[in-house]
Amino acid sequence: MQAGDMVEELQQRIMEVQSRIELAAQRSGRSSQDITLLAVSKTVDNTTVDQAYDLGIRDFGENRVQEFASKIHSVPQARWHFIGRLQSNKVKDVVGHAFLIHSVDRWSLAQELDKRGQYLEVSVPVLLQVNISGEESKTGLHAGEVESFLQSVGELKSLRVMGFMTIAALNSEPEESRPIFRELAALKNKVHSKNFTNVELNYLSMGMSQDYEIAIEEGANIVRIGSALFI
Ligand SMILES: *Cc1c(COP(=O)(O)O)cnc(C)c1O
Repeated sequence: MQAGDMVEELQQRIMEVQSRIELAAQRSGRSSQDITLLAVSKTVDNTTVDQAYDLGIRDFGENRVQEFASKIHSVPQARWHFIGRLQSNKVKDVVGHAFLIHSVDRWSLAQELDKRGQYLEVSVPVLLQVNISGEESKTGLHAGEVESFLQSVGELKSLRVMGFMTIAALNSEPEESRPIFRELAALKNKVHSKNFTNVELNYLSMGMSQDYEIAIEEGANIVRIGSALFI
């Protein structure tokens, strides 16, 4: 296939996703401007990221530290999110570079991120990854642990908890994700009024290629989309 055709196909897919986001936002009484389309670029190279940027995508996400570090270097004009499991000894490659770290799933990681933030004298915006379904195989805090975690975040000078992220199970039916998304939105509403120190809760990062429209209907304002954009 010609390079020009590939760009045209990418553009088609971006437009398709954007229009579905627009419609889902309308169904939830919002506008698409309230929703961030986060393009998960883990399966594509820098050239494709560049093309997506030229086609208007501004936010990109990576789930591996090495790939994250190399892509932010190649496309520094984009906003880069870290969305994967983060080992404590890799925080220095992410803090100060990520617009948002979506995957804080344990207290020891929060402490390491904060330590690095203090060292660099930057704040570290993060989301807490919540394992709503409670499946042991999945990472993330259990819903019942979130409130005490947020209370403790007041002790960390640089960390800023900006919201929550969840990954719904891969279901045969996207509708099966709806209760998961609804529960995370309810959790956010419940703890929002408590005004914990260093906690803002502006973002709900939920929904992927197969279920992002449902996530938006349930209140998501960041959707993480890989395969629907990049095949
Ligand atoms: C890969 C990935 C996505 C995107 O998944 P698709 O089904 O390809 O849209 C979203 N979130 C996380 C954490 C991922 O690792």
